[in-house]
Amino acid sequence: MRVLGIEGTAWCASAALYDAEADSVLIESDPYEPDSGGIHPREAAEHMSEAIPEVVDRVLTAAEAEYGPNAVDAVAFSRGPGLGPCLRIVGTAARSLAGTLDVPLVGVNHMVAHLEIGRHRSGFENPVCLNASGANAHLLGYHDGRYRVLGETMDAGVGNAIDKFTRHVGWSHPGGPKVEAAAKEFAADASEAGGGGSEAAAELLDLPYVVKGMDFSFSGISSATNDAADEGVDVERICFSLQEHVFAMLAEVSERALSLTGADELVLGGGVAQNDRLREMLAVMCEARGADFFAPEPRFLRDNAGMIAVLGAKMAAAGDTLPVAESAVDPNFRPDQVPVTWRAGESV
Ligand code: ATP
Repeated sequence: MRVLGIEGTAWCASAALYDAEADSVLIESDPYEPDSGGIHPREAAEHMSEAIPEVVDRVLTAAEAEYGPNAVDAVAFSRGPGLGPCLRIVGTAARSLAGTLDVPLVGVNHMVAHLEIGRHRSGFENPVCLNASGANAHLLGYHDGRYRVLGETMDAGVGNAIDKFTRHVGWSHPGGPKVEAAAKEFAADASEAGGGGSEAAAELLDLPYVVKGMDFSFSGISSATNDAADEGVDVERICFSLQEHVFAMLAEVSERALSLTGADELVLGGGVAQNDRLREMLAVMCEARGADFFAPEPRFLRDNAGMIAVLGAKMAAAGDTLPVAESAVDPNFRPDQVPVTWRAGESV
């Protein structure tokens, strides 16, 4: 089976072809990069309307060159969650392509796709998943035919919380990679000045650390980091402290999720998962409790159509396709709304 995937929930216009037999994924992406500030929904939608036809065309041309005129067996698209104006463009493109190619249409939940790509690439049987993305942050675990939300942010997504600080100090979007670079710089400088060791930790700012049971909150830390910048605290020190606090919160809740479910596998998903420090903290936590940890390669972590095509193929194989009349997008589509049809034959 070969599935054409289309992604466009917010900033990344992307198309992919997944060949299930070869387990190969071709991804073509075109990101929206705002001139200043964060993601503007109208500008993002304008970007989608220009970029989606181009990335789809690139993938279809490559697919037809390799496999001939019947290269695509199904079209999968991200149905939500995401920005409504962007999702509607993706939905329209997917419906019209499925009609033109005369193949089934598959509606994929974007957050379940972030999880399933980790499960697919790792070969893990029944992991807990930490989705650390821009607009979301939650722990998912599989139980009785659904992915259950075990814990989640009570306010902002983790990437959005980090980007809020970088916007405040005037850095361009996306802020996450810049915070990571500044934090690394701070740790290296502190270590050099102190002759090695954990000197940076001694300089950690005391920021709000809010974990309530399985849920967590980032709004207090966003205000505190912005205030610290206004008071003239060194920006690299703030970046270092921001990362240490936010990622420790995510690691704490991930560990609790493993403990509560009895799972011994953790997969990581979402754009923030590209961060070395987050992966390091989770790997250390997993090793300490004898659990396996896996984060897919970066092209499958940030928003991408590869993960949509891979999950789309599993859904199509399970007969989980959509009539056009029932294929409306859903900006608030939660992962626990999805009946997990494609795991029916599995033992867990
Ligand atoms: P969602 O998947 O919830 O819809 P999204 O559409 O914003 O989120 P993602 O690609 O999952 O997209 O994540 C983008 C976020 O990842 C941005 O907030 C960005 O700052 C953050 N990010 C990217 N690279 C890094 C990094 N190295 N460290 C920390 N954050 C990062």
